[in-house]
Amino acid sequence: MLGQTYHAEFAWVGREVVRDVRIDVADGRITTVAPGASPSPGATRLAGLTLPGFANAHSHAFHRALRGRAQGPGTFWSWRERMYALAGRLGPDQYRALARATYAEMALAGVTCVGEFHYLHHPPDGASYDDPNEMAHTLVAAAAEAGIRITLLDTLYLTSTVDGGELVGPQRRFGDTSVDAWADRVARLAVPSHARVGVAAHSVRAVPAPLLPEVVAVAAGRPLHVHLSEQPAENEACLARYGRTPTQVLAEAGALGPATTAVHATHLSDVDITLLGGSRTTVCLCPTTERDLGDGIGPARALADAGCPLALGSDSHAVIDMCEEARAVELDERLRSQQRGHFAVADLVDAATRRGHAALGWTDAGSIAVGARADLVTVRLDTVRTAGYDDPVAAVLFAATAADVTDVMVDGRPIVHNGRHQLVEDVPGALASAIKAVWK
Ligand SMILES: [Zn+2]
Repeated sequence: MLGQTYHAEFAWVGREVVRDVRIDVADGRITTVAPGASPSPGATRLAGLTLPGFANAHSHAFHRALRGRAQGPGTFWSWRERMYALAGRLGPDQYRALARATYAEMALAGVTCVGEFHYLHHPPDGASYDDPNEMAHTLVAAAAEAGIRITLLDTLYLTSTVDGGELVGPQRRFGDTSVDAWADRVARLAVPSHARVGVAAHSVRAVPAPLLPEVVAVAAGRPLHVHLSEQPAENEACLARYGRTPTQVLAEAGALGPATTAVHATHLSDVDITLLGGSRTTVCLCPTTERDLGDGIGPARALADAGCPLALGSDSHAVIDMCEEARAVELDERLRSQQRGHFAVADLVDAATRRGHAALGWTDAGSIAVGARADLVTVRLDTVRTAGYDDPVAAVLFAATAADVTDVMVDGRPIVHNGRHQLVEDVPGALASAIKAVWK
């Protein structure tokens, strides 16, 4: 790969905005970061604020087909019925087109890596495709087509309730017959260099507590993700079955730690927060989904104070906008406390970039630094939302949207230029046709 020189008007380096930054890129890595440089001839100018690539640490790509179609009244549980109806309809070809378009939307929003929490494994009858990993390969290929990296979090899903209920209806597509069958399938999942394999236990609803240590063994230090306490009903069922909260169940199974990411972590006790923080478990907040589903507001500040790194995900893709996810972490705390200023802007950027990449196993991504993967996201500062700023990063974090992202580089490769995806010509058209094909 040829080397390339960029000149960023502003860039996020370390934990601050610096001006006139020369960034050299070679072989997918950043080789020079020089603030205060004069633009060299031949340098590609990046007007606006250039940030490290965003990591979308929690995604279910197929949920994108619910946008604009599932805003009816009800609860998380009635929304889930709609989601199951969708899950029952997707074949590999439809899923490929939908995931490609969804990941292309992510790229336009500055996402350079996605964590795909993947549980739609099997055909509707719950048997197996000829290639048991067909759906996983579909997602990995879709990410390549959209130009982003992916960590495929292959998810174990065995039961429908904490009490061990059988999988019924579309849930049969999610289930492997045993931990061993799942582990065997995961062991056979080989992926190219833009992808990595991690694992997930869907939740304490879907994986019985006695089996969790086996999941930890299969993870073997790779990223291990789990939905945690998104709904009070999950906590109540878990307490009734095990006499412990979901967090306590995970802790006793040895499932918490720096390689683990707990997704949502909305309804927690003080003991839960201490266990998560003390084990340095990452918590992935998904504020736009949590607000869309009426889940509640997670204790983000308390978790960070206890020692949890925070990451962000767009989860159900009610919207795909990492600036919106990041500012919601602060703004939700303001609504709860009636006070401002809970998180430094630098910590919000960290959650959207470095922490998310680390949670997905890409510890060499998410910062503009020599040796890091060359993932760059440039956000305009002269749009109707951002014009008139004093502090570029405050303008971006608190007012910009995905529509203000103009240029995105992934591993040194320009994927978005001047607001246009370079690999998927018509992303709205691709979304519309993929979603139409699913619901027809
Ligand atoms: Zn989820």
